[in-house]
Amino acid sequence: MTTAAIIVAAGRGTRAGGDVPKQWRPLAGRRVADWTLDAFRNQVEHIVLVLSEEDTQAWDEFSQTDLILASGGNDRAGSVRNGLAALSGFGVTRVLIHDVARPCVTPRIIQDVLSALDVHSATAPGLPVTDALWVGEDAVVTGTQDRSQLFAAQTPQGFHYEAIVAAHAAHPGNAADDVEVARAAGVNVVIVPGDADNIKITRPEDFARAERIMGIDMDVRLGNGYDVHRFGDGDHVILCGVKIPHDRGLQGHSDADVGMHAVTDAIYGALAQGDIGQHFPPSDPQWKGAASEIFLRHAVELSRQMGYRISNVDCTLVCEYPKIGPHAEAMREEMARILKLKPDQVSVKATTSERLGFTGRSEGIASLATACLVKA
Ligand code: MG
Repeated sequence: MTTAAIIVAAGRGTRAGGDVPKQWRPLAGRRVADWTLDAFRNQVEHIVLVLSEEDTQAWDEFSQTDLILASGGNDRAGSVRNGLAALSGFGVTRVLIHDVARPCVTPRIIQDVLSALDVHSATAPGLPVTDALWVGEDAVVTGTQDRSQLFAAQTPQGFHYEAIVAAHAAHPGNAADDVEVARAAGVNVVIVPGDADNIKITRPEDFARAERIMGIDMDVRLGNGYDVHRFGDGDHVILCGVKIPHDRGLQGHSDADVGMHAVTDAIYGALAQGDIGQHFPPSDPQWKGAASEIFLRHAVELSRQMGYRISNVDCTLVCEYPKIGPHAEAMREEMARILKLKPDQVSVKATTSERLGFTGRSEGIASLATACLVKA
């Protein structure tokens, strides 16, 4: 079984604005066509790129690659026919036909279409219409339309090669897409789930939308935190919110939860909002003996206010004693509760320092933490 993709890129795309056709306009640092072509590399054996004769620079450039080039026709159907003809002699059994202006197509959609072709001779992704539909005239609603059987058509549309070649040869022209061509030839077309993100760049604002979908403008922030508290008198320590019996306690103005302090500082660090000492000055008596949960909750709330969600945190405790392992799960759960995360987004681990340095001599406990925040 040999599969090919035909990327139809001969259109002039004037509705999207700009001086050049939309497929050659920049999107997140590359051209729209580059993203679309990349989506199909490693998914199919051959890729045909259908180009307008006017795009001489593209012809020069892509003739140096392993793409098969074909000339655009008088309309979209003509371009597809030329693309199909360019595949003759390659032993192709299945073909995916895709609009170059859909650069956000996902591997999942491509795989679903390919899987459906194992059983059916034609398939295409469709999105059930969810908005109410009106009929209107002169900006007045004149009727409504039942949407229960309506789908928005997407690409890639997949076909058994011989079936779509025959369908195109028999079609009189003016089809909206290849599904219409196939159906006119009596070919049954099965719908697989489309994706709302698989947009077709049509209007000028669609470029920014595509970049958002691709996550190119994603704002990811990392922060680190480090804290130390010394041992003193006491019969327990509180680490990452969990009380652990011990023959000494940790000294500090608050409850001296060194792990929670490091995580709190990591979040402040990711937000570039100072540290615990600035938000909760040790000189202020109201924080004496305070539960460190107050500090962490403040950092979580500050993230929310600034439009970030916490993706994960990782905390390392450095000490010889107490042993952390038996308590690590409870610590993860307690921290996750305060952070409003799932336990699998919170890591708590421990190490000794091989009896070296202040932690090795059990003079205190140190903690390091990393937090990852993503713009919501
Ligand atoms: Mg501290």
